[in-house]
Amino acid sequence: MPFAELGLGSNAVDGVKALGWNEPTPIQTKAIPEALQGHDILACAQTGTGKTGAFVLPVLELIPHEGRIRALIVTPTRELAYQIEEMAQKLAHHTHHAVTAVYGGVAYGTQIKRLTHGVDVLVATPGRLLDLESKGVVDLSHVEILVLDEADRMLDMGFWPDVRRILRLLPKKRQNMFFSATLNDTIQRVVGDMLTDPVTVSVAPASTTVENVEQRVYPVNPAQKTELLVALLRSMSEYRAIIFARTKRRADRLTEALNASGVDAAVIHSDLSQVKRSKTLEQFRSGKHALLVSTDVTARGIDIEGVTHVINYDVPDRPEDYVHRIGRTARAGEKGIAITLLAYEEMGSLRDIERMTGHVLENTDVEGFDYADRVVPNSERKTQDMGARSLFSGGVGRRGGRKRTRRF
Ligand code: AMP
Repeated sequence: MPFAELGLGSNAVDGVKALGWNEPTPIQTKAIPEALQGHDILACAQTGTGKTGAFVLPVLELIPHEGRIRALIVTPTRELAYQIEEMAQKLAHHTHHAVTAVYGGVAYGTQIKRLTHGVDVLVATPGRLLDLESKGVVDLSHVEILVLDEADRMLDMGFWPDVRRILRLLPKKRQNMFFSATLNDTIQRVVGDMLTDPVTVSVAPASTTVENVEQRVYPVNPAQKTELLVALLRSMSEYRAIIFARTKRRADRLTEALNASGVDAAVIHSDLSQVKRSKTLEQFRSGKHALLVSTDVTARGIDIEGVTHVINYDVPDRPEDYVHRIGRTARAGEKGIAITLLAYEEMGSLRDIERMTGHVLENTDVEGFDYADRVVPNSERKTQDMGARSLFSGGVGRRGGRKRTRRF
């Protein structure tokens, strides 16, 4: 179905064409017509599904451009705010709406200057928005549409009190569009009283949105993770990869170790200044760095095209994070590869991931790598019968001809 059939005007459709989008994604097909009719929307969609277009396009269609903030898009992280701003500015090229983002970690000056020049669509992280409002440079009294992006993440990150404060600054009569990667009971309960007769739209659950991702698990002794990673990277001819580490310190140490082994990598996490983070992201985007080491918080929502591999240096504790991580690759129909380095003590987390996604992940080895003693999940894992028995009932490790079997 072409974009024009969703009820969008020609200027918005021209913006879409300029981005090279030929037809709407499922979330866009479902959400845009409902939004255009003025309904409140509760959407379950993850990054990578085209959700940004699903809320930006109706906003551009529904509000005038006159230099007053008529639409407010609140999002949990600075990177997301920046990315939404970039995409919305492109989509608004022919509609002539002024789109600006405000977020913390950078100086106020430029943001205030742009606000005083007139803004139609404001993209904001909660803290900076409240700051600027209290300084009297943001007037939210004309907002007609509120978009809340990644509502589940807002809750997780403790932003809910700020969100409530923001809601109190908005006109009562307005259209709301809430987007969330998950729609569990807590989310439904918390947002329920903020929406009026919402239309709920959702797209295929996590396990099918990542069907273009080939997922591999590399069981390894934890002491050999870096060595194995270097061997793996050397065996790959070409890549643009994001590597996930569990903590900022591990991300730093891994980056140093990679660079010391002659593998170029850049690191991004929340201890780095916003300027540094933006610069590193830009360098990754432009191809100056082919490897980006990151933690979950900073990587969430990173929208960079052509990411060939997502590498889990550490298995995430929360299965949702696994899905978010591997969603950084296989964007917009491309194929991608997700690699997970699995230590013995992470097998419980892997099992949670398999339960959530409904896929048993297969083991792979790096040929010729001198594996130290390790535990390998047994071959029964290949069965799809996930409920009947423990997925990890035994394992074999080998070094110098010595075989080991463990039960756990
Ligand atoms: P999002 O889920 O909003 O983060 O979008 C994920 C990626 O899909 C971005 O790189 C978009 O540019 C791309 N995208 C969004 N909508 C479409 C579409 N209708 N056709 C092709 N690509 C799209």
